[in-house]
Amino acid sequence: MNETPHNSPKPVEPAVASAGAPGPAESRPEKRHLSFTQLNMFLRCPRQYEYRYIRGIKAPPSGAMVQSRVWHQTVELNYRQKIASDRDLALGEMQEFFAAQFDVALGSEEIAFEPDEKPGKLKDQGTAIVAAHHKTIAPAVRPLLVEERFIVDLGEDFPFDLVGVWDLVERDGTIADNKAYGKTPRQEDLDKDLQFTAYALGFRTTHGRAEPGLRMDAIIKTQNPKAVQLHTRRTNDDCRWLLGLIEQVGTAIDSGIFFPNPNGWHCSPRFCGYWGLCMGCKNGR
Ligand code: SF4
Repeated sequence: MNETPHNSPKPVEPAVASAGAPGPAESRPEKRHLSFTQLNMFLRCPRQYEYRYIRGIKAPPSGAMVQSRVWHQTVELNYRQKIASDRDLALGEMQEFFAAQFDVALGSEEIAFEPDEKPGKLKDQGTAIVAAHHKTIAPAVRPLLVEERFIVDLGEDFPFDLVGVWDLVERDGTIADNKAYGKTPRQEDLDKDLQFTAYALGFRTTHGRAEPGLRMDAIIKTQNPKAVQLHTRRTNDDCRWLLGLIEQVGTAIDSGIFFPNPNGWHCSPRFCGYWGLCMGCKNGR
């Protein structure tokens, strides 16, 4: 196992949760932030990371990305009011909100639609996704925190703090992530998904105890979208392993070497918004 960042917090065992447990980093001087999104992009392709976070070049989102973002906003609208009301909004109200926000995005943003993406179809599919979630998943959810940001202090000597956002933390502490997929995710992929490890690390270092559960609330975008809930778990060793990985990624970022990684699904005109910049320069780079 890799070493953890110097003075980095140890994910606490549930039985020794209070004394000496690391707290949130807000009280300490501000350091550079490394988000899970940044970490994930660097792992996928360091050159993508360079374009986005060193050079500050934003690639326009695809239609599916905009649909997903607006759906998240719709779920957030419902869960935020449900913290106090304990009731879900009416489905029609949520679908209207989705449709209005989607139209706002269409009218105000540059969106890189794929050849098979049609705005009207994405909008219809989006309202069906809202309905599937509202019918099958939302009724049992008891939200405590919605779209809540967390910071993990990675130690005085380490140049970054880890930041992330929990989609949803339920009243019993269960952390849930909302995602829409083309097909049902495999359990083995969920069990090694670093995003859930980051969620667990964030919870353990800010709450001083292990989260009682980690759950994926997924909508599968079949012709009639269907809802699926999948569960996973993380150990303290998983969290320590992630800390070691973060240390190495932080060191690599500060070395300033951002090599391309063309191996994998992510390296294609469809999935990399920097394809033209990167591959288009192949002959003259
Ligand atoms: S085109 Fe491929 S190698 Fe280049 S930045 Fe995108 S993913 Fe990386």
